[in-house]
Amino acid sequence: MTAYRALWVTEESGFSPNVVERNLADLPAGEVLVRVHYSSLNYKDALSASGNRGVTRNYPHTPGIDAAGIVEHSDAEGFVAGDEVIITGYDLGMNTFGGLADYIRVPASWLIKRPVGLGLREAMILGTAGFTAGLCVHKLLRAGIQPSDGDIVVTGATGGVGSVAVKLLSQLGYRVVAATGKAEEGPFLQQLGAAEVIDRALLTEGANKPMLKSRWAGAVDTVGGEILFNVIKSLNYGGSVACCGLTAGTDFAGNVFPFILRGVNLLGVDSVELPLVAKASMWDMLSLQWKMDLEALVEEISLEQVPHAITQILAGKQKGRVLVRMI
Ligand code: NDP
Repeated sequence: MTAYRALWVTEESGFSPNVVERNLADLPAGEVLVRVHYSSLNYKDALSASGNRGVTRNYPHTPGIDAAGIVEHSDAEGFVAGDEVIITGYDLGMNTFGGLADYIRVPASWLIKRPVGLGLREAMILGTAGFTAGLCVHKLLRAGIQPSDGDIVVTGATGGVGSVAVKLLSQLGYRVVAATGKAEEGPFLQQLGAAEVIDRALLTEGANKPMLKSRWAGAVDTVGGEILFNVIKSLNYGGSVACCGLTAGTDFAGNVFPFILRGVNLLGVDSVELPLVAKASMWDMLSLQWKMDLEALVEEISLEQVPHAITQILAGKQKGRVLVRMI
């Protein structure tokens, strides 16, 4: 029996994540055994590690909604030992033991071969958050938003999705306004390419008004709640917001005016159940045309450092991306 390390969340008086030794035989049945080289930390991992039943129903559990590594054994057609693979989403790290471990065993239908232009480490610097930022930007582009249309606001700008969105949009020539609750992180956001940094409290002003002054050609919203609807109310005529997150809240009170008077678009973004072919196409984009140097926004940690990093995420203190090195 081969022993391996895994983050192991147990439910006793509360939920606590610890690194323990497990055996390969403990992994669920599956088609492909992957030696994880890198995983990353995402908001959803923090929810899974802290007992959020909307993410993970049963404990003990190993979180980790993404991983990049090398196939060690495959019973599936299309994959052989030695293949370099990436996995994000589907049930990984939710109710299937996830990537915060030396090994995962998963269906082949969840795996993507590493695109030529991206190393395994680079893939997990992006991870689910960076991949989702790519999906958000893609939706804005498909809605026809161009750099000449005006400013794009990114909410939750210092977070994983937000920081990659700031970087990608500015690299594509958009004027990006970064909205953050971390006043001290202005220089970090400017380094990523933000033309302007604003206090996110400004985006809660006027919440009781039916409409707000036109301000944004587009938006990437990673926080939801009241901020999302205020952004919708201040989109320019024909503007669009890509909505992907909920750190400020899941609900918002709305009205139809921005939609019927300004023709704005609310674009939903899901990275989890997206068909594999669409995932592969986004990974190709991120590895070639949209390739970014993300070293400025990554912190690399070991599996043993993950429990502390999770408390930072839950406190809303996360900045940039957290890469978890497993080799
Ligand atoms: P992070 O924890 O890295 O970043 C979240 C950021 O949100 C924080 O850094 C902070 O940014 C901001 N924030 C935190 N608390 C609040 C609050 N109470 N009010 C307003 N803003 C707040 O998370 P991720 O970037 O990994 O994920 C962001 C969101 O996107 C999450 O809700 C996550 O579940 C969702 N997500 C959705 C996906 C999908 O497929 N739809 C995929 C990936 C993520 P700042 O201090 O700069 O304001």
